[in-house]
Amino acid sequence: MKTKTVQLVLTPPQPHFVGDAFRVHNFIPSIQPMTMERMSPFVLLDYASKFYFGPTNTPRGVGVHPHKGFETVTIAYRGRVAHHDSHGGGGIIGEGDVQWMTASSGILHKEYHEEEWSKQGGDFQMVQLWVNLPKKDKMNDPKYQAIVNADIPRYILENNQGEIEVIGGHYKDIEGAATTFSPMQLLNAKLNKGGKAEFAFPAIYNTAMVVIDGAIVVNGREVAPLDHFVLMANDGEHFLIEATADNTVVLVLSGQPIKEPIAARGPFVMNTVGELKQAYQEFYEGKFGELE
Ligand code: MN
Repeated sequence: MKTKTVQLVLTPPQPHFVGDAFRVHNFIPSIQPMTMERMSPFVLLDYASKFYFGPTNTPRGVGVHPHKGFETVTIAYRGRVAHHDSHGGGGIIGEGDVQWMTASSGILHKEYHEEEWSKQGGDFQMVQLWVNLPKKDKMNDPKYQAIVNADIPRYILENNQGEIEVIGGHYKDIEGAATTFSPMQLLNAKLNKGGKAEFAFPAIYNTAMVVIDGAIVVNGREVAPLDHFVLMANDGEHFLIEATADNTVVLVLSGQPIKEPIAARGPFVMNTVGELKQAYQEFYEGKFGELE
């Protein structure tokens, strides 16, 4: 197997607020070369780096809005998020939990800081990924996977180096918790200082990492500090990371690109401009259901 090398290590861009709750650095698709095509099937990655929110009795959040044609995957690292959608999905995700919402044919939802957590305030940190769906699955019924941390399968690395949480796809012989519509791996590498983890993905898989806590060295060469995004080249299969700080956490994403046209605007990711227009029409006509 050839080594998959580092293409770029990206510094987090200036953050912006989504609603008043999510202070995010957008790594995909706004910084070159991170187009939707370059990281397909991952068409958006918003990273809320650790940020303190003071106590409030009015939970901060994003009000009711639609999505169609893809999946939103929210990974909470610090703080708690409450979610409700027009298809009856919803709940609260806490530290280490994942919500995997398949919007497919269209859904309304809202995303807030959880009420009790908001009253206390605290550090908030999360990732929201938009995972594109193959054309054949864009018109499926919506669905919702609530994945609590205790249900995420783990691969324990030998000699107390740490562990790999398998959110989706697989790591070695451990199958992930989430069902996916196209081949992908979504992993949290949790490493002690000096801990190493190796990964092997097909060369064509688009692959990246976000350093959530601590810091790493990739392939014994490139340094990736806290909050940085590591884009891997499509030149090989195998790479190695080593934690250079205790309690290092790295989100690893790798997926087979969906080789279909992308037409994206606002909260919709479709294949054609006509389908986008139709999505807006359906939204204005209330066809995605009701949600207060
Ligand atoms: Mn949303």
